[in-house]
Amino acid sequence: MNIITTVLVLTACCYHISADDKVRYDNFKVYRVVPKSNEAVEILRALEESDNVYDFWTEVKGVGHPVDIMVAPHLKYRFSDALAGSQFDVEEYISDVQKLIDNENPKAGRAVGLEWSSYHTLDEINQWLRDLASTYSQVSLIAAGRSYQGRDILGVKVSFKSGNQDRTVFIESNIHAREWISSAVSTYILNELLTSQDSNVRQIAESHDWIFVPIFNPDGFVYSHTTDRMWRKTRTPYSTCAGADPNRNWGYHFNEGGTSSSPCSETYRGPYAFSELSTNTLSEYIGTVAPQLRAYIAFHSYSQLLLLPYGYSAAHQDNYNDLYSVGVKAASSLAQRYNTRFQVGNIVEVLYVASGGSMDWVKGTFGTPITYTYELRDTGRYGFILPANQIIPSGQETLDSLVTILQEFDKIL
Ligand SMILES: [Zn+2]
Repeated sequence: MNIITTVLVLTACCYHISADDKVRYDNFKVYRVVPKSNEAVEILRALEESDNVYDFWTEVKGVGHPVDIMVAPHLKYRFSDALAGSQFDVEEYISDVQKLIDNENPKAGRAVGLEWSSYHTLDEINQWLRDLASTYSQVSLIAAGRSYQGRDILGVKVSFKSGNQDRTVFIESNIHAREWISSAVSTYILNELLTSQDSNVRQIAESHDWIFVPIFNPDGFVYSHTTDRMWRKTRTPYSTCAGADPNRNWGYHFNEGGTSSSPCSETYRGPYAFSELSTNTLSEYIGTVAPQLRAYIAFHSYSQLLLLPYGYSAAHQDNYNDLYSVGVKAASSLAQRYNTRFQVGNIVEVLYVASGGSMDWVKGTFGTPITYTYELRDTGRYGFILPANQIIPSGQETLDSLVTILQEFDKIL
């Protein structure tokens, strides 16, 4: 990066910090841009990689595939100049990001414990996990890893009866800090497994052991609450910017596409595989339970997708056919309650190349049979800033699909 772009990055990141030290996004817009030619695709790729002044909420895939890009107000004209000409369809999708942030979480701070009508802080979520472990004999607290800033990565293990240890389901969420809906949904599901009277939920709950680690990236998650709602990465300091993308940092086909070598990029892979203390320690923990894993499920947002391995390759490997056919049934179950539509497929085919992800590492290293990554609600009208009143519906429909996944695989495995 040269000096001019460094100045631009600093300007873009810091000039709008408010009195309470929170980054504000007043009049930041999100544009949905559809490139109509290969040249247009290359222009977008260059824009993403060279400047890092625009925040690509979704990645560039190819001709005809929409990309959501957040643009600061002072860069509006520069952005439209870069996309001048007829090679792009451009639509303003979000007119003021700060307004969405202001309206996202109206009840925050009022409730004790989790109630899934608001988003919660790391301390609140961890306290809830500790309370579960002291309330339910089936729940035990686990330390699944540690972060760069010295935080424990907490989780819980749930076991209703002995004999299920080789049927363990691992649930990952919030490896990307700003994707708050992901841990809201995973904690909602955890609570349902403990309390629901629904016969299907009871059936899957009590016929598996469960490991939930709701906040895979605690440093980034805290920062997304205290300082910058749109933060995605870890907080490890690097030469020019902070943080690596913890879902490009795992040691299976690391650095084989869909990542950046620039520390200022949102998809910076880190200097080497498992450079992040969080991914490194989590991988050690997962390694200790991997022989028992029947399923590894990761929650992200947004785009409404149910993704299959791998992110480094479009090839249909391992048990792709089973994962795909069950995935289609799961998406159909998910749609029944609120008609929310999810697309199913291999990461590269549905999204783009993204190497170094946690699911790739688990699947490739341990051969875990059931492996899915959800991109939860929505399809871009709110993007990462999904209003809290969508937590429960999103949790309900996601649990519906998880019931289908586990029950369908019981017929196969
Ligand atoms: Zn994500």
